[in-house]
Amino acid sequence: MSIGSFETVDLRSDTVTRPGPGMRAAMAGAEVGDDLFGEDPTVRALEDRLAGLFGFSGALFTPSGVMANQIALQLLVGPGEELVCDAEAHILAHEEASPARYGGIQTRTVAAERGVVTAALLAGVVRRGNPYTLGTRAVEVEQTHTRAGGTVHPLDTLRAVRELTSGLGLSVHMDGARIWNAMAATGTSARAYGRTADSMSVCLSKGLGAPVGSVLLLPAESLPRAGKLRHGLGGGMRQSGILAAAGLYALDHHVERIAEDHANAALLAAGLRDAGFTVRPPETNIVLIEVPGADEVVARAAKEGVLVTAPGAETVRLVTHLDAGRQACRRALGVLTAVMTDVVGGARDTAASGRP
Ligand SMILES: *Cc1c(COP(=O)(O)O)cnc(C)c1O
Repeated sequence: MSIGSFETVDLRSDTVTRPGPGMRAAMAGAEVGDDLFGEDPTVRALEDRLAGLFGFSGALFTPSGVMANQIALQLLVGPGEELVCDAEAHILAHEEASPARYGGIQTRTVAAERGVVTAALLAGVVRRGNPYTLGTRAVEVEQTHTRAGGTVHPLDTLRAVRELTSGLGLSVHMDGARIWNAMAATGTSARAYGRTADSMSVCLSKGLGAPVGSVLLLPAESLPRAGKLRHGLGGGMRQSGILAAAGLYALDHHVERIAEDHANAALLAAGLRDAGFTVRPPETNIVLIEVPGADEVVARAAKEGVLVTAPGAETVRLVTHLDAGRQACRRALGVLTAVMTDVVGGARDTAASGRP
């Protein structure tokens, strides 16, 4: 896509990547079978590989991260039972109230700073049940935390959460859609993260750049029920090895390079900070800028071929990924600096003149 003489730089999300020739070739050549009969060897290979990587005994390929999360939550928390999570969690903000709608799950929230749920916060919220009090069944954490700007739960924090919850007999689900970014940022191993949760969803179509899919990691004994829940949610697939092949290709070719996305996010953040804007220091591949008139910034930048989003009236968000290289990010930096300087200047002039 191009506007005028420029290539469009799309920093709206890391979901916008398109499969390249190598990934497409892997998909075209994938060996397949009917996965509902458990006969797709490529799906099996993907599930086995991720289970091994994160140290789980079972794995289930799902069409989306939302579905992986919802299956996991329904496995851990029954209808009329309680889940505790951060108030800005993806499962609450971006999953169409599915925990309530499909799981009958009551959620109670903590206001975690930067989205990082700690044992200390949880200790004040989780409840033991008794005949007249609804007890907490499970806790959910998000790694990295999307709405907080790709923030990382440190391993020690997750271990402390695990220790607290184990002591109370509570389960932990980790929404690890961007766990790959956390691993790249910290060097923490997949296994170390895996040991801190009872189940974990990992996404193939964000930083890894596959077109479709997530994988739910869980104990093998939960697989039959997980498979039934997936089928009931409309996620039973047939020759889905075509899609799993893209995931396997991404695991071979796109994990190491995530560090480049982080370097590009740092470049954008530093450039905008040097230009005088308030930027949250990015921990991974998401940059949040506090700027008045965010919607106007989005519209004006789009006209210059730089696509970004405004998650709030005074917040602009940039997400770096596989299809936005260093050159593209440099161009985005130039456009955004000019557009934001103009929009902020306009707002100041309006305020100074007293015009509405
Ligand atoms: C993207 C995302 C999901 C959902 O994944 P989909 O494949 O879009 O359904 C879940 N959790 C987090 C934190 C995400 O970023």
